[in-house]
Amino acid sequence: MIRALIETSLVDWDGKITTVLFFDKCNFMCPFCQNWELIVHPEKFPVITWEDIEKKLEKKKKWVDGVVLTGGEPLMFKKEVFDIARKIKQRNFSVKIDTNGAYPDVIRELLDAHLVDYVALDIKASIDERYYKAAGKQIDLENIKESIHILMKGRVEYEFRTTVVPGIIDEDAIKKIGESIQGASLWVLQTYVPKNAYRKHYRGKLDKNYSEQLHQFSSIAKHYAAKVKVRGKV
Ligand code: SF4
Repeated sequence: MIRALIETSLVDWDGKITTVLFFDKCNFMCPFCQNWELIVHPEKFPVITWEDIEKKLEKKKKWVDGVVLTGGEPLMFKKEVFDIARKIKQRNFSVKIDTNGAYPDVIRELLDAHLVDYVALDIKASIDERYYKAAGKQIDLENIKESIHILMKGRVEYEFRTTVVPGIIDEDAIKKIGESIQGASLWVLQTYVPKNAYRKHYRGKLDKNYSEQLHQFSSIAKHYAAKVKVRGKV
């Protein structure tokens, strides 16, 4: 279900003004998750219907270019995502999906149906047993690899994005992730925001050399992807 909405955002799709819709469940439980309240206590948030969304889009149609489906993990809601993406595209807005990569088949089907214009795929750690710490549970790593593979075929614009979480992302992780996405068109390194993290342990202040480290990681990342961006303020 959709339980949160930002009417106008300038930061959720580079170069576009968007409306952002948040789905309320996730199959991961990342200790640094920023939207954990929506996942752990969805009942605290009101359900937002298509009628609500449609009214807001109608009001903003001169300004808004696209709609971002995020969460939680939107691709857990396959039927709802297909329905809503179809309705959004019928109204001439573009569609972006943010996903944790656990549902490659749904990504493939959305691409086949031409219902998505941009996919942002999180790569949270090097794709080995270290991923379990980042995802907060044992997940199927083959799904992440398959999602990467699907996007790298270039059927749709995409970005891989890695939030540089201290204790999870280090130089070795950047190199290992880089090897998994060698030749990608865009890799975004995102600044970590500790304040709202799910687990207390991840809420501490960032080290004073965090920014320097982030830029050092971005120089390494350039060996693997055609374009690397650092997103967010330190
Ligand atoms: S995949 Fe995203 S929404 Fe899900 S728990 Fe992790 S950070 Fe939160």
